[in-house]
Amino acid sequence: MSHTTPKTSILLIYTGGTIGMMKNPVTGALENFNFDQLLEYVPEIKGFNLDLYSIAFEPPIDSSDISPESWSQLVSIIYSNYEQYDGFVILHGTDTMAFTASALSFMLEGLMKPVILTGSQLPIGALRTDGKENLLTAIEIAAAKNEDGTPIVPEVCIFFHEKLMRGNRATKVSADNFDAFESNNYPLLAHSGIELQFYKNNIMPYRSDAVLTPHYEMDAHIIIFSLFPGMQPDIVKKIMRDKKLRGVIFRTFGSGNAPQEKWLVDALTRATRSGKTIVNITQCSTGSVKMNLYETGLQLLESGIISGHDSTVEAALTKLMFLLGKGLTPEDINRYMNLSIAGEITV
Ligand code: ASP
Repeated sequence: MSHTTPKTSILLIYTGGTIGMMKNPVTGALENFNFDQLLEYVPEIKGFNLDLYSIAFEPPIDSSDISPESWSQLVSIIYSNYEQYDGFVILHGTDTMAFTASALSFMLEGLMKPVILTGSQLPIGALRTDGKENLLTAIEIAAAKNEDGTPIVPEVCIFFHEKLMRGNRATKVSADNFDAFESNNYPLLAHSGIELQFYKNNIMPYRSDAVLTPHYEMDAHIIIFSLFPGMQPDIVKKIMRDKKLRGVIFRTFGSGNAPQEKWLVDALTRATRSGKTIVNITQCSTGSVKMNLYETGLQLLESGIISGHDSTVEAALTKLMFLLGKGLTPEDINRYMNLSIAGEITV
């Protein structure tokens, strides 16, 4: 009797972004080219002992044009191909990659296979491109298995410039550098140097009983509001009163502080009492919100504002869209915002 283990199979999903762009010889602007052209620039791919398939957004898009509908499209592609593949690599523009990674981490409940997002700062056809290394290593990570055959990284991640980060902890920090992403409040899941080294203690544990449950609804009736000295009451009050507005990602100073002005406290209290969810996250790039540390934070707590803990702006935003999309009550949303549902906050 012969035993043949099936080859590991990976699905590459190409959404667009710089990695697959080429300079228009006339205008000099970067434009998308198609996926087959892209692969011609990476013949090394054939060196993997893997079954590699691909699917592409038609047309490919700059990631500035990514929307909640694009996230649903990705969820649907992954869900309908979940059984056939061992892992997924999503090629995506870097500008909004952290939003997409965060959104997918909530929308793919019970995910137990790798979904690795990557892209590049220079097009794959450029001589000094970072795209090849990012793509090849992302594929290797998506295919990586433990000795018992389970995936090493059963979660949504971003791989970029030697670093594997939890998707909902990563953020784009540089418009110029190859080292463009950071995971400020959570350690790396892997580092690729001469060796690809996984930090297994930081990776979500594999659960054999988990079942993938896809979610498609995101409610985008929310805004990100960043505090600054000199805010004008009329403008802020108008926004907070907006009838269609259901939630605010409120980017405060330091450990979660806001000016003590009465008009602001009143506007926020009125908003939360009318059923809007306001989530407090810090404008600082590292650290967490602690609303009971200063008087200026305490009054926010009393206004009915929820702590976003050490969430990135991308994770807080997409988590709130996700919870609102589920039609939950403000009380339930409050409860879930205080729980880590996909490893997005430290509580
Ligand atoms: N504008 C591009 C995008 O996000 C930038 C990139 O891919 O790096 O689609």
